[in-house]
Amino acid sequence: MLNLNEIAKEKFNKTLEESTNQEIYKLLLDLVQDKAKDQPINESKKKLYYVSAEFLIGKLLSNNLLNLGLYQEVENQLAASGKSLAEVEEAEQEPSLGNGGLGRLAACFLDSIATLGLNGDGVGLNYHFGLFKQIFKDHQQNYAPDEWLAEPTWLTKSDISFEVPFGKFTLTSSLYDLEVLGFQQGKRNRLRLFDLDTVSSDIIEEGTITFDKTNIEENLTLFLYPDDSDRNGNLLRIYQQYFMVSNAAQLAIAEAIERGSNVHDLADYVVIQINDTHPTFIIPELIRLLTTQHVVSYDEAVIIVRNIVAFTNHTILAEALEKWPLDDVKEVVPEIATIIEKLDVEIKEQFADKPNVHVIDENNIVHMAHIAIHFGFSTNGVAALHTEILKETELKPFYELYPEEFSNKTNGITFRRWIMAANPELTAYLDEKIGTDWHLDADLTGLLEFQKDEKVLQELKDIKNIKKAQLAEHLERTQDIKINPNSIIDVQIKRIHEYKRQQMLALYVIYKYLDIKAGNIPATPITIIFGGKAAPAYTIAQDIIHLILTLSELIENDADVKDHLQLVFVENYNVGEAEYLFPAADISEQISLASKEASGTGNMKFMLNGALTVATLDGANVEIAELVGNDNIYLFGRSSDEIVHLYETNGYNPQYYYNKRQIQPIVDFIVGDEMMALGNEANLTRLYNDIKNKDWFMALIDLIEFIQIKDLMFEDYEDQAVWQEKSLINIAKAGFFSADRTIEEYNNEIWHLTDGSSKKDSDITLN
Ligand SMILES: *Cc1c(COP(=O)(O)O)cnc(C)c1O
Repeated sequence: MLNLNEIAKEKFNKTLEESTNQEIYKLLLDLVQDKAKDQPINESKKKLYYVSAEFLIGKLLSNNLLNLGLYQEVENQLAASGKSLAEVEEAEQEPSLGNGGLGRLAACFLDSIATLGLNGDGVGLNYHFGLFKQIFKDHQQNYAPDEWLAEPTWLTKSDISFEVPFGKFTLTSSLYDLEVLGFQQGKRNRLRLFDLDTVSSDIIEEGTITFDKTNIEENLTLFLYPDDSDRNGNLLRIYQQYFMVSNAAQLAIAEAIERGSNVHDLADYVVIQINDTHPTFIIPELIRLLTTQHVVSYDEAVIIVRNIVAFTNHTILAEALEKWPLDDVKEVVPEIATIIEKLDVEIKEQFADKPNVHVIDENNIVHMAHIAIHFGFSTNGVAALHTEILKETELKPFYELYPEEFSNKTNGITFRRWIMAANPELTAYLDEKIGTDWHLDADLTGLLEFQKDEKVLQELKDIKNIKKAQLAEHLERTQDIKINPNSIIDVQIKRIHEYKRQQMLALYVIYKYLDIKAGNIPATPITIIFGGKAAPAYTIAQDIIHLILTLSELIENDADVKDHLQLVFVENYNVGEAEYLFPAADISEQISLASKEASGTGNMKFMLNGALTVATLDGANVEIAELVGNDNIYLFGRSSDEIVHLYETNGYNPQYYYNKRQIQPIVDFIVGDEMMALGNEANLTRLYNDIKNKDWFMALIDLIEFIQIKDLMFEDYEDQAVWQEKSLINIAKAGFFSADRTIEEYNNEIWHLTDGSSKKDSDITLN
C-alpha cells in the first residue's frame, strides 16, 4: 500500500509533516513517474501522430494522480499530516508549451486518446520559455520569459535524435518525452518534444523576450511564436516549423519500420493529424524523406502522403491563414521549396483555371492551407457552424473539388481536468446524485431528474459559493487582488483579440459604471473578471488591456461604485488560473463577433461547471444553445449570415452606431478627463479612434443588445430558484462536449487506428 510517510523517511529522513511542499512535490513526481513507467504503452499496427505547434497541458501532478487513481489516497494522506495537495501543487511550474485554445485542445485530445486506449502520441517542440509571462505595470502588458524547465521536471530525455538538414547547416535534435496517462486505463502514450542541445538563454536580453533572431543554433526553441514582424522573425518561424515536422516525420517513419512497415505501405502504419497549418511542411518533408532516404519514387511518395496526412482548420480569420514568401522557404530549406514548387506545378496543371486554389500565388507566396488540403486526405472544421462557413465561404473552392474530404469534428474538453480535478466538490456531489459512470461516458443527463428539487438546487449553489470563496482566496494570496466572494462572478478569459470583443464588455462596464453613478444600484454586487494575453505586436489588443486596467483602477477609486461593481484583470492567465476561474463563474462571456470564433472550448468548461452563458450564435455556442434550449442561454447579436454579408458588401459603418444617443457617451468616456487622468493618452486615443472610425470587428454593432441582455441576466440572477435550475440544465447537457466524444469521431471517421486500415487504401492506388 502507498505510504507517503515512509517514502518521505526514506527520501529525506523526515516525516511527511516535517517535509516542505517542495520536497513533497518531488516525492510525488517521482512516485507518479515510477508508476507511469510501469504501464505499457498503447499499441496497434497503425499509430497516430498529433503534430502541433502548441500543447497547453497545464500542471501535471493532480491530473496524473487522478488518472492513476491515486488522487484521493494522496490527498487523504497529505491531509493526515497537515498538508494540502493544492499547496504542494504550487511548487510545480506550469509548462509553457502553448498559447490558447488550439494548444489546450491538443492537450485535451492527448488525455482522451490515452483514455480511449488509442495508440497516438503528440509531437511538438520543447520551448524553453513559452510565449511569455504577462506582467502588468502602469496599466500596460509587460513581458518576461516564462521559465518552467527547472528541476524537478516531468520531462525524460530519450536517446532518440535526428539530423535536420537546413539549407545552410544541419542540426541534430534531442527528444524529450512526457508521459500521457489514460484515465484508469493502465496504459500510456507520450508527448514527444523535440529540442536542440545548443539552445541558450544567454542570448536573451536581460528582463526581456528579445534575442538575436539570426542565431538559429542558440535560439531555435527558446520561444513559442517569436516576433515575426521582420524578415528574420519570419525565417525563424520557418526554421522552427521545419525542425518540428522533420523530426516528427523521421520519428513516424522509423517507428513504422520498427513495427514492420516496408515504407510503401506506410499509410497502413501511420496517420498524421496536423493541428492547424503550422505543421504543414510535414507534407513536402515526408516526400523528401521517402524519396531520398527510402527507395520510393516521387509519384508514389505523393500518394503515400495523401493517404497519411489529415488537416484541422482552426480559423477563418484571413490574417491567420499562414502564407510564406517562397524566397523565405528557399532560404531556410531549399529542398523543401523545390518540392513545394513541384506540388504547385501539379496543381496548376490540374486546376489551371482556378488560381484561388494554387499552392504558390502570382506573388510567389506559398499558401500553407492549400498544401494541406490538396495533399492531405481529410480537412475538418471544429464546430458545426465553423465547418459550414468553411464549406460555403472561406474554403468553398476546395470543398467543390473534394466535398467528401470535408467533415466537422466539434471540439471537446477533458472532463478529468475541467471538472474532476478543478471542481472535486461538484464531482463528489454528482457522484452522489447520479453515480460515477459519467467519469467515463460523460453522460450527466441523470441530473435532470433534480431540475425542480429545491434542495439539490440549493446544494449546487452552495458548491458554487465554495468555488467563489476559493477563487477569492487564491487571487488575494497570489495576485493581491481582493474580490467579493458574494458578488456575481462574470468572466471573460481567453486570448485578447478584437474579434472576441473584450472591448465590448469593457464598454458595458463603462455603461454600468455610469448607470450606478446615476443611482441605479445592482441588487447583488457584480465582479467582472478578465484574463488573457495579447500578442506583443498586436497594438489594439494592448490598448484594450490598457483600457480595462485603467478602468479597473478608476472604479476601485470611486467610493460610490466600488462596492457594487468591480473590474479585475487576472495577470498571466494560464491553465492554473483557469482551473480556479471556470468553477467559480456565474456568467460565461462568449461574445465574439458571429462567424469569427471557430469553436471555443472555454464556453464548454464554463457550462460544465454550471455558469450561464451570454453568447452570440458563434462557434460551439450554437451547439450549446441547441442542447440547453434558448431559455437556458442568453443569446444576443447579429447572426453569422448577417455579419458575413456585411463584410462582403462593406456595409458596416461604426459612425452610425457611435452617433446613437445611448452609445456615444460610453465611447467618449474612454478619452474623458477621468480616464485620461489615470491612463495613457496614446493608448486611449488610439483605441477610441479605432472604435469610432474603423471597428473592424464591430464592437458597436451589438452593443445595445448586449447591454440589454446583460441587464436581463443580472435581473434573472435575483430569482435564484430559476437561475439554479438553468445552471443545473447546463451541467446536465454538457456531456456532448467531452473530448472523448470528439476523439471517437476522429478515430472512427479519420484515423481508423483500431481496424488497421487507412481511409483511402482502396481509393488511391499507383498505376
Ligand atoms: C480553454 C482555454 C483557452 C481557450 O479559451 P476560449 O474561450 O475557447 O478561447 C485558452 N486558454 C486557457 C488557459 C484555457 O484553459
